[in-house]
Amino acid sequence: MSAPEDFDAKSGFATRAIRTGHLRTPEGEHSEPIFATSSFVFDSAAEAAARFSGDLQGNIYSRFTNPTVRAFEQRLASLEGGEACVATASGMSAILATCMGLLKTGDRILSSCSLFGSTTMLFNKYLARFGIQTSYVPLSELDAWEAAMDARTRILFCETPSNPLTEMVDLRRLAEIAHRHGCLLVVDNCFCTPALQRPLDLGADIVIHSATKFLDGQGRCVGGAVVGDKKLVGEEVFGVLRTAGPTMSPFNAWVFLKGLETLELRMLAHSRGAAQLADWLSTQAAVERVYYPGRADHPQHRLVGDQQRTGGGILAFDVRGGQVGAWRVVDATRMISITANLGDAKTTITHPATTTHGRLSPEERVTAGIADGLLRVAVGLEDVSDIQADLARGLSGL
Ligand SMILES: *Cc1c(COP(=O)(O)O)cnc(C)c1O
Repeated sequence: MSAPEDFDAKSGFATRAIRTGHLRTPEGEHSEPIFATSSFVFDSAAEAAARFSGDLQGNIYSRFTNPTVRAFEQRLASLEGGEACVATASGMSAILATCMGLLKTGDRILSSCSLFGSTTMLFNKYLARFGIQTSYVPLSELDAWEAAMDARTRILFCETPSNPLTEMVDLRRLAEIAHRHGCLLVVDNCFCTPALQRPLDLGADIVIHSATKFLDGQGRCVGGAVVGDKKLVGEEVFGVLRTAGPTMSPFNAWVFLKGLETLELRMLAHSRGAAQLADWLSTQAAVERVYYPGRADHPQHRLVGDQQRTGGGILAFDVRGGQVGAWRVVDATRMISITANLGDAKTTITHPATTTHGRLSPEERVTAGIADGLLRVAVGLEDVSDIQADLARGLSGL
């Protein structure tokens, strides 16, 4: 293979998103190849022994490393500004591998209450079985995080902006709290991606991704990633992957790698569409409230433009008439996809109270701010006028 193309931190974001990580083979291919191979061969018994002992760097087996997967890892690490990246089979296995790599029995996680549903399940049902407890605090309330710290707390975990209400936390200040107590800040950066927000630059220690969402961008593959420094991610989290095996397939890595090439363009287009749609929704009589970070009426609006570059591609809104009204809007759509997925070129609509947050009791939903009339839209890349027309049909009847 030829020397790595050196598009280091000096190059711009778009350049690294397109160029970083590809080691061209002697075939001279222009597009990154898919290394569909489970194992790698050695020139001699001595070389095999040296690779296994670690004296010689190089591929052994695709559960450990694979060139296509490594290209994706290096590209994402560069975009997030991290030293190391480990790709995983899914976003959930990225969170699992991080917890397995960094926690032990008796440790405690302090997490924001608004959290992806499966993450809550992983913490409350599975990690709890192994003696790792999780406590929850309201995402944006820094005093609550501070007050909930104790000697056993090892990880602070959050998603910002939150799903579905797009609440945000000041990551610089949260990192400061974490580090003052000797803890690590882990941020699930699924909603923003590094095109809009780089948590490591703001003081976070680890970034988690569900690559399934915006990194792919067209709803094709399930995957995930963990980004951070060489010790925590390159050794501890990588060690879990290598041993336990929730690795990313080379084909999926290739899809995500190509997805990264257009990430910035797409995130800015999703954001432009969401901003337009949020403004339009706020003028509709049947809409009671719009939740979008890019709007001046959002409680943490000041973080947009500083911590995160735009308001992002996801918004939520309360409609008149509770669940009946919300379902009417959903069922009147003809183009928008009724699905809980997000981060796709296709716009999607979800009724959180009866789907993603359906397992919560009515009281828990009230506390979480998930009203019966709440709808979440992950704005895709279609013409905004068509998205508006599709929503207008249901809204006009309320
Ligand atoms: C989807 C999602 C996950 C889980 O990712 P999978 O790839 O589905 O395992 C984690 N966090 C957030 C915020 C998500 O949206």
